[in-house]
Amino acid sequence: MSEKKQECPSCAMMVDAKAEICPICGYEFPKQKLSIILGVWLLIILMLAWAFL
Ligand SMILES: [Zn+2]
Repeated sequence: MSEKKQECPSCAMMVDAKAEICPICGYEFPKQKLSIILGVWLLIILMLAWAFL
């Protein structure tokens, strides 16, 4: 058994990576890879914004 999990960007809960919709808050995952890239970019942008403030 090797179930992968993904973090819901809406409620920050770990849900099944195969889930298309978060069972906790109902958030719709766009695309698995895209959501990871978006999360990384969001982190970079937040860190840059923090550094400049
Ligand atoms: Zn959720």
